[in-house]
Amino acid sequence: MTVHIGIIGAGMIGTDHGRRLTDAVAGASVVAVTDVDAERAASLATNLDARALPNGHDVINDPRVDAVVVTSWGPTHADYVLAAIEAGKYVFCEKPLATTAEDCLRITDAEQAAGRRLVQVGYMRRYDAGYRAMKRAIDAGDIGRPLIMHCAHRNPAVPESYRSEMAAHDTAVHEIDTIRWLLDDEIVGTQVRTPRPTSNRFEHLHDPQIILFETAGGVHIDVEVFVNCQYGYDIQCETVGERGAVRLPDPAGAIVRREGLLRTDVLQGWKERFADAFHAEFAEWVHSVRDGQLTGASAWDGYAAAVICETTVESLHTGRRLGVQLKDMPDFYQHGGMP
Ligand code: NAP
Repeated sequence: MTVHIGIIGAGMIGTDHGRRLTDAVAGASVVAVTDVDAERAASLATNLDARALPNGHDVINDPRVDAVVVTSWGPTHADYVLAAIEAGKYVFCEKPLATTAEDCLRITDAEQAAGRRLVQVGYMRRYDAGYRAMKRAIDAGDIGRPLIMHCAHRNPAVPESYRSEMAAHDTAVHEIDTIRWLLDDEIVGTQVRTPRPTSNRFEHLHDPQIILFETAGGVHIDVEVFVNCQYGYDIQCETVGERGAVRLPDPAGAIVRREGLLRTDVLQGWKERFADAFHAEFAEWVHSVRDGQLTGASAWDGYAAAVICETTVESLHTGRRLGVQLKDMPDFYQHGGMP
């Protein structure tokens, strides 16, 4: 059975996802596209052999659409996800699930009322081969009980529009989801430290930042966010346990020996770094929609990330270590979103 998909938001990542769903994922067909920019929607629709529709609600309510992909601007996500739940359709929402924790809770409430999991949030690192190998090693007990994690998220440079708060909401949010998933543990404390800033930044920005997280189980994590590091896009993660340590491998590249030097390329962007993870994410999502059992990051994961980001930004502004106040996870999400 082919899953017929409607895309809301034909910008940068909506266009990429549309292409991968059409060219690289078996069993999926994009049948409808919309964007506030009608020309952009028409252009992507033509490329994908789909129909351009006037707005997101037309896509959600189109009887030909089985499942919806939301890739519009963050503040629009909550309304579209709620409308998809109301229509009883599966919805893949790029991060963030919503821009406030309250809106995330409206979504988790609506999904529970619908009685089954319909929502998946686009945290693609869960599909990266290196992170998956790390999770297998942790789950198998290879390193013993995890005690510490060291993470780094470095980008070569960011535009002037990037604000200090985005270090949590747009950058470390990926580490937040990855930490919770890798450790199967909840983040309960956060503190932002601001070292001497790099001179390669716009004046308004705190860069780099170090975010210190603690989990309920007592694991301490340091996340370096350095978005003007100049040299490349570099994602690092090491988990240290009682008996050993497991580290994310560097992406494979040719190693050149020449003139007394050993050289290899450093990737320059997230699209290249996580291309395979995005493909695997959509292949599994389409498969799970067909099976009627979603397996990726849930609406609850989207809610937890929103609260942890909000608390982290408060710590950036106050300099204090803050407790993360999450609601108790409903049974519905503890049981994988099945009634
Ligand atoms: P983008 O290039 O600005 O694309 C968003 C598109 O949505 C734009 O064409 C925008 O039109 C359109 N739009 C805005 N409001 C809309 C509405 N109400 N209905 C329909 N379309 C609407 O942004 P992007 O970089 O693709 O990011 C989109 C989402 O993906 C964001 O939430 C972002 O955080 C997420 N993202 C995730 C990752 C990841 O690593 N998982 C990476 C990149 C982006 P206008 O430009 O005219 O407003």
